[in-house]
Amino acid sequence: MAKAEPSGFGNISQPLAAKLAKLGLHCDADLILHLPLRYEDETQIVPLAEAPEGLPVQVEVEVFSTDIAYRPRRQLISRVRDDSGMIAVRLLNFYPSQQKQFAPGARLRLYGEVRDGYFGPEMVHPRAKAVLPGASLPEALTPVYPTTAGLSQLMLRKLILTSLARAEEQGDLVDTLPKDLRAAQSLMPFDAAVRMLHLPPAALTPEALEQRNRDAWRRIRFDELLAQQISLRRAYAARRARTSPALPARGSLTARLLKELPFRLTGAQQRTWLEIANDLAQAHPMQRLLQGDVGSGKTIVAALALLQAVENGWQGALMAPTEILAEQHWRKLSSWLAPLGIEVAWLSGSLKKAQKQTMLSALREGRAALAVGTHALIEEAVEFERLGLAVVDEQHRFGVRQRLALRHKGTSPHQLMMSATPIPRTLAMSYYADLDVSVIDEMPPGRKPVLTKLVVEARRDEVVARIRDACAQGRQAYWVCPLIEESETLQLKTAIETFERLGAELPDLNVGLVHGRLKGAEKAAVMAAFVAGEVQVLVATTVIEVGVDVPNASLMVIEHAERFGLSQLHQLRGRVGRGAAESACILLYAQRPGETARARLKIIYENNDGFEIARQDLHLRGPGEFVGARQSGVPLLRYADLEDDALVEAARVAAEALLREQPDAAARHVERWLGGRGELLKV
Ligand code: ADP
Ligand code: MG
Repeated sequence: MAKAEPSGFGNISQPLAAKLAKLGLHCDADLILHLPLRYEDETQIVPLAEAPEGLPVQVEVEVFSTDIAYRPRRQLISRVRDDSGMIAVRLLNFYPSQQKQFAPGARLRLYGEVRDGYFGPEMVHPRAKAVLPGASLPEALTPVYPTTAGLSQLMLRKLILTSLARAEEQGDLVDTLPKDLRAAQSLMPFDAAVRMLHLPPAALTPEALEQRNRDAWRRIRFDELLAQQISLRRAYAARRARTSPALPARGSLTARLLKELPFRLTGAQQRTWLEIANDLAQAHPMQRLLQGDVGSGKTIVAALALLQAVENGWQGALMAPTEILAEQHWRKLSSWLAPLGIEVAWLSGSLKKAQKQTMLSALREGRAALAVGTHALIEEAVEFERLGLAVVDEQHRFGVRQRLALRHKGTSPHQLMMSATPIPRTLAMSYYADLDVSVIDEMPPGRKPVLTKLVVEARRDEVVARIRDACAQGRQAYWVCPLIEESETLQLKTAIETFERLGAELPDLNVGLVHGRLKGAEKAAVMAAFVAGEVQVLVATTVIEVGVDVPNASLMVIEHAERFGLSQLHQLRGRVGRGAAESACILLYAQRPGETARARLKIIYENNDGFEIARQDLHLRGPGEFVGARQSGVPLLRYADLEDDALVEAARVAAEALLREQPDAAARHVERWLGGRGELLKV
């Protein structure tokens, strides 16, 4: 899993290296593949009188006068001119150094857009550079790169050009694609493509430039898709080469569990279970993601899979991200499986030492067939006699390394991951090199859609009255306190205040409080009281976000809903609508939420389908944010688009041919594009 030995960038300072690392750049090859977002044209100087309105241009001017104005607000206003005319330059925030730069008589090159403003034609915050008369102009377009705070375009550009020159010298730009493949796909040579993009040539007509640019991008996208296809195939082949215990469906235990259940599996549960059962029967490790909206019933499918392992004399483990959720799984599994005589071990951070020792030895000696727990499951001390199947619930909440750690508790166990945060297929493919996906696309019968209401905070009283009514009818309610990202202490304080206030407002009801700072046992006690109906209103921080299942709760209130992310809101809303009663989710929002917050509230209000919400979320946030770099490692695709069917298909065919006929070239190609990152994409 170690990153390939970086070739480094020659001599650069530690802080600079840290900034580059932030951009995912660790060696020359990374810098060379850090491609521009766009270009700026500094090759020409446009006379002021000819500057097109609203398009970025470069002008060269002399400063005529500079003043600080105070109305409507403090700003620097400079009048600048060339032979053709005069415009105003305005800086709304400025440093003394900028004031100096705009001293009368100074000769400046400005890059920006000329617009019609209050003072006539003006540039607001142009980029400014002092020049001597007759200073030469760059010959090529200036690339603009994605960068990070404290790393200037100029600096980054320099580093990239140095890397490019060094690579060229060392012959590292050689093409990884054989000539005939390039010819068949009419692909530009690699070195020409990267040089074209970093250093667009000067003397080309704009049309020719655009064509060359398009060709260069096409080569880059093809290369990237090819690297993905090759690593996908290699990961798949590597998986098929590993052996795992074959765990065929015997039905001895699963059939008994199914007979005992108070419900019948939905068609979608039946289908996904079959897919999993088939995988388990293979002598190669399963690697499957089970996706299903909140409440679609993933747990029973996981339980059946675990039983199939037990039927074959192997152990199973189920890991969940929070103690509440893990404990709930443990209770559910225990109640389902106790009648079958199967012991389920329980592991969490808050176990007493003696209890823990008992659990550990039960697992080590194989007395416990199954283990359920939190991260405690991947601690050093945990050993299984023979782990055959590892299940990770809410897999997106775990890091790659944690998922890997669970897998390493067995020799080569099968792996099932579950998620209610659906990742669109194309996105999943660009983040996971090798993963089969099953989707539960049907809800258990009798679910009523949850009614979602947006209520402004000023009408909080009506919401409290509604809780009173619901509880008078024997129902229960959740009240989720605002997320305060900056401060856990503040979040806790708010939760306690809300708890006290609701207690006073609802004197006839039992109000409970659960938050992240409670000890495991305390948390469990509150949750148990809520499950038993002794507590009617549960005030909670976001610890209840995932998985908690209390069908009698029919009302969910989320305070300051505008602060929550979409998948969080959807998860929270999914806590209700699980029983027979009509359920509602009330989103309390502040008087004036910001624009993105409003967009989120609108999406959650208008949609019940988690996949659709995820799609819109993706649209709102972009793929990087959406999947979360932390959870998923590095994206395989930065430039290419999986919707480009023709290019994807070409890359697929090429990957097969290359692996078959020139495996060395394939390896070099993947190394160039993914370096050591490919490994992390396999889990
Ligand atoms: P999730 O997919 O969100 O993890 P759960 O597995 O917690 O959902 O299931 C939600 C609830 O639905 C549970 O109470 C579970 O027992 C119940 N359930 C699951 N499958 C069915 C079914 N086929 N028919 C009726 N209820 C079901
Ligand atoms: Mg669940």
